[in-house]
Amino acid sequence: MLSKPDEHGKYGIYGGKFAPEVLMSALEELEEAFNIFSNDKSFKQDLDNLLRTYAGRPTPLYFAQNLSEAYGAKIYLKREDLVHGGAHKLNNTLGQCLLAKHMGKERIIAETGAGQHGVATAMAAAVLELECEVYMGTEDIERQKLNVFRMELLGAKVSPVDSGSKTLKDAINESMRDWVTNVENTYYLIGSVVGPHPYPLMVREFQRVIGKETKEQILEVEAEGRLPDTIVACVGGGSNAMGIFYDFLEEEQVELIGVEAAGKGLESGEHGASICAGTEGVLHGMYSKLLQDEHGQIKQSYSFAPGLDYPGVGPELAYLAESGRVKMVSTTDEETLIAFEILSKLEGIIPALESAHAIHYAIEEARIKAKERSNHLIVVNLSGRGDKDIFLVEKVLGDKG
Ligand SMILES: *Cc1c(COP(=O)(O)O)cnc(C)c1O
Repeated sequence: MLSKPDEHGKYGIYGGKFAPEVLMSALEELEEAFNIFSNDKSFKQDLDNLLRTYAGRPTPLYFAQNLSEAYGAKIYLKREDLVHGGAHKLNNTLGQCLLAKHMGKERIIAETGAGQHGVATAMAAAVLELECEVYMGTEDIERQKLNVFRMELLGAKVSPVDSGSKTLKDAINESMRDWVTNVENTYYLIGSVVGPHPYPLMVREFQRVIGKETKEQILEVEAEGRLPDTIVACVGGGSNAMGIFYDFLEEEQVELIGVEAAGKGLESGEHGASICAGTEGVLHGMYSKLLQDEHGQIKQSYSFAPGLDYPGVGPELAYLAESGRVKMVSTTDEETLIAFEILSKLEGIIPALESAHAIHYAIEEARIKAKERSNHLIVVNLSGRGDKDIFLVEKVLGDKG
């Protein structure tokens, strides 16, 4: 099945545009510009050139021989950790900044929680000579000082948000407010396949390069047109997952697995598993699966992987999960930590904690399938590198004694 939004930006019951009236025309302008430029030859060439020469694409598809031998499957890693900045996020921020430029916007705004999307936005804005302002809760600023400093070095202005819980959702509100006021010259850059239509569609299209490359690369190295049996990706908002899944949706024999953060365990209530353990509602301009209480108040999400600590998920992924095309599972902090250490030691690759969720599940899958046959072919989307996480891991390992 190939999924695409209807004329209201809906994927089945999910998605849509839940935005204030004043932003409706801005969303329409954006949709129109995206439709034009995503089919424009010179736009595509410019983006392709940036992805190759600035971001470092194509990223390798690496056969993880040691990991494969240890668990009795054939495991490949799609190396998004090698993208400039250390994660897949730049694929999207480059695409959207280039679009902003073509739309004649001079100013980019974004909101960030842990700071990773803020940094990727600041990079793309710098290289494309756009002004950049990033909203961030004061609580998050305190916790993520290094990323704040990075953004400032890259020429962005980091604006503290001191209202509400002083975290991501307050920063989102502040960005919306800014956009309403400055919509003439300002482009609002969302960092995952979330938000009102057309963002989920647009971000998926900019991240699709991951799956396109993966398909070409696997056909090159595997005999007789063999595709992966299973593709595994971690899910925060869902952009690296949608990016690698999309070009395999119609290959029904390829199993697609999304891994959410189970944090301290789904029963504990402290997790980020919006699809596995959430309910339907409206957040961030979209109708999707969310973490909320019985009164519709958004609940605080939790994961020790900052990129998975978000109480919602992209509508297209919610739809694909409901339809059964994508299987959703979840992995705890504790399980993830083991996978983090395994990949570091066996392959000499320190994964982002987000990506280590997918590694954990790939190992599980390898173990299960090894009982049936020896060469089950798994591709894991290694969405980012773990340098950003080593202090946290050091602390967690220290606490465990
Ligand atoms: C931000 C991030 C994620 C989660 O975002 P998605 O939109 O779900 O991909 C996953 N991995 C890394 C390394 C990240 O930085």
